[in-house]
Amino acid sequence: KTFEELGVNEPLRKAVEELGFESPMPVQERVIPRLLGDAHDIIALAQTGTGKTAAFGLPVLQRIDPDINRPQALILAPTRELCLQIGSDLADFSKYVPDVKVLPVYGGSSIESQIRMLKKGVQVIVATPGRLIDLIKRGVVKLNDVHTVVLDEADEMLNMGFLESLEQILSYVPEERKMLLFSATMPPDILKIAKRYMKDYEEIVV
Ligand code: AMP
Repeated sequence: KTFEELGVNEPLRKAVEELGFESPMPVQERVIPRLLGDAHDIIALAQTGTGKTAAFGLPVLQRIDPDINRPQALILAPTRELCLQIGSDLADFSKYVPDVKVLPVYGGSSIESQIRMLKKGVQVIVATPGRLIDLIKRGVVKLNDVHTVVLDEADEMLNMGFLESLEQILSYVPEERKMLLFSATMPPDILKIAKRYMKDYEEIVV
């Protein structure tokens, strides 16, 4: 299949073509049409290097309404490095979608500059759980308009003790949301989160 057949729009296709993506990788073939359509939530057992960032990144970007200047998608990741990587990949993918603003927020760096950026308005937040909670409590992040949530490297987030933070964050996101969970392993706690926070989820193994 082609990215076009998966439903990816022209500006995003142009960007990935320039990145040298000729055809979709398997995780992209499976995740992109589901996330663009009305399908179930998804749990994907996928390692790094399988193309998972584009699998969630392209449909997330495509689902953003550029006229709404509030967070609409939330991507949670365990580390600063991964947040920055995802942020940079999404910036590459959205090269021809200039109206979509993506902001990585993570601990260990100035919260003031992140607050300044947030106040200008962002539509996609890529965050580590601890810093995001801090920003929510300060009232600078509101998740009322979030319709898509991605948990990347969910097993790592649990290993790092972020379960409670994740649960707290999800309590601020409207119930009517699409959720995707990516994990390299499937420990029981992951399935517990899935059962608790995802409606009818589909499991994908890549
Ligand atoms: P990820 O698993 O998201 O870290 O992606 C692994 C690598 O594969 C990254 O360097 C991507 O740029 C690259 N990649 C992702 N999708 C494709 C594709 N459809 N064709 C070629 N390379 C890709």
